[in-house]
Parts: sequence; C-alpha cells; structure tokens
Amino acid sequence: MFKKLSFILGLVIFVIFAFLVIKSANLNQFIDSIESRTFDLRQNLIINEGVRKPNKDIVIVAIDDASYEYILDTYGEWPLPRDVYANIVNYLEKQNPKSIAFDLMFVKSLKSQNSADELLINSFKKYNNIYTSMNFDNQSEDLRVSPILPKKLTVKVKNDSKINFEDLTFINCRTILDGIINATSNIGIINVSRSDDGVLRKMPVVVKYKDDFYPQLALKVGLDYVDENPNDISINKKSLLKVGSRLIYLDKDGSAILNWYGPVGSYDYIPLYQLIKASNGQKTDLSYDFSNKVVYFGATASSLFDIKTVPSGKVYPGVEVQATYVNNIIDNNFIRKVDRTFTVVISLVLALLIAGIVAKISLPFAATIISLSVYFAYLLVAYYMMRFGNIWLEVIYPLIFSIFAFTFAFIIKYLVKSRDFELQYKLATTDGLTELYNHRYFQEQLRMQIEHSKRYENSFSLIIIDIDFFKKFNDNFGHQSGDAVLRQVAQTLKKNVRATDIVCRYGGEEMSIILPNTNNSVAYSTANKICERVANHKFRLANNKEANVTISLGVSTFPEDGNSATELIEAADKRLYDAKNSGRNQVK
Ligand code: GH3
Ligand code: MG
Ligand code: MG
Repeated sequence: MFKKLSFILGLVIFVIFAFLVIKSANLNQFIDSIESRTFDLRQNLIINEGVRKPNKDIVIVAIDDASYEYILDTYGEWPLPRDVYANIVNYLEKQNPKSIAFDLMFVKSLKSQNSADELLINSFKKYNNIYTSMNFDNQSEDLRVSPILPKKLTVKVKNDSKINFEDLTFINCRTILDGIINATSNIGIINVSRSDDGVLRKMPVVVKYKDDFYPQLALKVGLDYVDENPNDISINKKSLLKVGSRLIYLDKDGSAILNWYGPVGSYDYIPLYQLIKASNGQKTDLSYDFSNKVVYFGATASSLFDIKTVPSGKVYPGVEVQATYVNNIIDNNFIRKVDRTFTVVISLVLALLIAGIVAKISLPFAATIISLSVYFAYLLVAYYMMRFGNIWLEVIYPLIFSIFAFTFAFIIKYLVKSRDFELQYKLATTDGLTELYNHRYFQEQLRMQIEHSKRYENSFSLIIIDIDFFKKFNDNFGHQSGDAVLRQVAQTLKKNVRATDIVCRYGGEEMSIILPNTNNSVAYSTANKICERVANHKFRLANNKEANVTISLGVSTFPEDGNSATELIEAADKRLYDAKNSGRNQVK
C-alpha cells in the first residue's frame, strides 16, 4: 500500500516536473543551448575520426591576405576591376569546371567601371555554369530603396509544415550589378542563420523577400553538381524539404542543419592572385586541374571576411560555410534533428528504466553504476546515430529526466525501506495477540536493565503475572473469550504503569513488567494497583457477555533478589507461586 502510494506520488511529481521543464521557455532555451554544445562536440568527434572527408571536387579560390596585398600592389585599389574576373572565368572555362560560384562580390554600390563590368556581364551571358549571390537584410529604406527583383530568381515553395519562415523573411536587399541580374538566373542568396549562442550551425535553404522565396546560392550550386535544379520545392508536414531527389530536414526556423567536414582550410584552396597571374599569362606556381570542379570564390583575408563561429572552429570564413553547404547537398548529408515529442518519449523511457534499476538493485553503488551505464549507452547510441545516420538525438533532456528519476527513485526506495524496517522490527519484538513486547524482547530488555542498574548503581523491579484459573476460564467460555481477556488484561497492565515500564507477554497467559529505576516497595504498590484494577474490570467476552478475572503477581527487585536475569525471574516466579498458594488474586 505504502509502496504503491509512494510510486504514484513519485510519478505525479515527475510528470509535473517534466511538464514544467518542457513548458518553461527560458529553461527550454537554456537546455537547447547546452544541447547545441553537445552537437558541436559530436561533430568534432566525428570529424576527428575522419569518417567524413571534405569533397575533393570543391575548390575554394580565396581572396586571402596574400592576394589582397597582391591586388593592392598591382591594381592599387579594392575591389578588383571586374574584367579581371572575366579573364579568370575565361581561363577556367577552358578546363571545363562543373561550376564557378562567386560569393557576394559584384555589389552594385561598389566602385565600378562600365567597360570592365561589361566584360564580366558577357561572361555570365556566355557560360551558364557561373553563379553569384546577393544578400538580403533588414535595412530601412532610409539607407537604400528595396529593389524589385526579377521573378526568374524566385522559387516556388509548397509549404505544408508549421514553419512560417518568420526569421528568414527580409525587407531589403544588397543588390548586385543590374547587368548580371539581367544576364543570368544563376543568382542565389547567401543569408546565414545563427543560434542564440552566435554559433552558425544551420543555413537557410530558401529565404523570403517581398512574399517570394529565393533559393540559397549553395543550394543552386549543389543541385547543379548533381544535375538537378531547385525549381520545385515542397516542405511536408514533418518539416522535410524535398527538392529534386534531396530530402532536407528543416529546423523550426526553416534552416537546414549542416554536417561539418573539418576545421577551417579543409577544402582545396587556391589563392586568387595565382589565378590572376595565370589568367594574365604570367608565370605562377599554380598547377591545379579545375576540370569538373565546383570553384567557389570568396574572401578569407582577415581584413575582408566576416568571421563566423561554427561547430568545427571559431574562425570560419563565409565561403567555407558555403562550401560545406554544397558538400552537404552533394553528399545528401544534412542533419535531421528528432522532434521534441520523440525526445520526451525517449527521456521518459530512460527515466523509467533508471527508476526501475534503482528500485530493483539493492546495492546503491551497483544501482548507480548501472544507471550511469544506461545513460552512457544512450550517449553512444546518440553519437553513432549522428555518425552513421546524420540523426541528432537530443541528450540533455534525457539526462535531466534520468538524473531526476535516479534521485527520486532513491528517495522513494529509502522511504519504503525505512518503513519496511520499522515494520520488521515491530514484528520481531511484539506479540501478535496482545501487542505487548514478546518473550525475546523481554529477555533482552531484562539483561540490558541489569547492566544499566549495575553501571548506575540503582535498582529496578520485575513483576510476573499469571491469570487465575485460566484453564477453567477457557473451558467455560471458550478459547475466543480467553483471547479477548488476554488482550484486555494486557491493556489494563499498560494503562496502569509508567511509559518507561516495559510490559511483555512472558508466555501463555503469563505476562511480565520491567520497571526501571523502581525499588521494591514502589513495585509492590504498582502490582497491587494492577491486581485490584484487573479484579474490578468487567471483561467483555467474545459473545458480548461480561465476566470477571483475577490475576496473581510475583515481584522481585534488583539487586536484593538477584544479580542475574535467571535469579530475578526465579525469585518473581517463586513469589507468584506463593500468591497462587495463598488464595490467588494477590501480590507476593
Ligand atoms: P492457575 O490459577 O494455577 O494459574 O490456573 P490456570 O488454569 O491458569 O493454570 P495455568 O496457568 O497452568 O494454565 C494456563 C492456561 O492458560 C492453559 C491454557 O488453556 C491457557 N492459555 C495459555 N495461553 C493461552 C492463549 O493464548 N489463549 C487462551 N485463550 N488461553 C491460553
Ligand atoms: Mg500459567
Ligand atoms: Mg494461570
């Protein structure tokens, strides 16, 4: 009964706790940020194991510090005149690259020369594998009027999920040269998503601008690599975005969670200045085969690029994030995070398992180790699910639930145990019929009392009681009534002694009382009082009739009647015998 009750109480408190944790927005955010850290940790472990290799078909042409210095030395200005890029495009195209993608470089507002721009625009017209990007933002129209973009840059998205793209909706755009926009539809967006802790773990697949959806640059480039296009996008109820043959899981803000392939500098890397030299026919160390490569242009020079923090490192240029994104599309490798309901179910299962372990395993140390092992095993599963299945199993909620279940199970277990112990103790020391202490307890207490009185040199007394003619009583009124009388005599004894006196059932219809710190005369008067009270008591019998019963009592006192339990019992017994012989219903 008690066990069941504590179990139900435990479960109720647990459910309330779980509900509070899940419903508390602040706590949720806090837990999510720790969860994200465990994601980073898993990602780095996987990277260190070397299971995921950066795709060798992706090459980054970097405007690195050396190139920046070369450009300033050679052209005396930044940005580069755009004909330089046109030159490079012509040089690369001779080697048949899969695609050439430029990060945000051809911004309209940057200084430009019409004739040089024209050459670049012509390259976009001539080759259909050249990509570039724009960036949406939320600048007010005070700074720049938000441009109207051609429909050809948009993409249709059928959205059946709960994602509303609120965080990925923008009101302004940093647009690029009109000539390029007119020349090509190979223009993607390079907006990023960041977690609350500032770490870039996910990237938008499509973003919204003026009610239309625009695809990311990396999505276009990645799909181009697998010969698919991003024209038809649908998002199902389970937040899976389908584009071509790719299914990309979207997190609640509409971004895709990236898998990371290595620290900064993991992709093949060519400094831009080498390409400038090569395309101008100058001598250079460059000996790279660009055929079938995805060539990504972006800035990595410390004075040019915006530094990003990603799971695999604190310093990560945007162009490498883009490369990682393309890599995810090519390898179909995006992370799928399990939904919250699933996490709660897993957490409850773990909690129940651990509570069960604590309840069943008696050794606390063993229970602790096994519980820890269960959670550790779950951690391993979570790790391998990410490593082999790209699945993000949450580990912090299960940890909190497990700790709570562990603690709670221990508390309940010890409450139940101490309660059990009390019950066992009572069973071992009391007599079932009279609820007096039993014979064994009497012997124990008597010996202790002797030790105690010897040590403190004081006296104590012992009374042995026997019911008169009880055999006859049983014969006359039946055993049931005899039992009723035994119980009532026991109660009468208890009522008429001090709380410190120990009343026991000595055996059969004999009872005994140990009276600590009590000399012979006080013990005698107590015995007499009891004798009188019993004689005057109307005993209610089993058949509801009433009857009278008397008792005889023998008293002995330590130390005058003996130094040991045997001597004291013998002395009291002898006096009881005297009382019987002297007519019963009296004290001797
Ligand atoms: P005396 O006055 O000499 O003590 O006579 P008596 O009949 O009481 O004699 P004795 O003490 O030897 O008898 C014990 C009787 O007590 C025997 C048994 O019938 C009865 N008795 C012992 N234990 C119980 C019990 O648990 N329940 C009941 N109903 N009777 C018991
Ligand atoms: Mg007897
Ligand atoms: Mg008797």
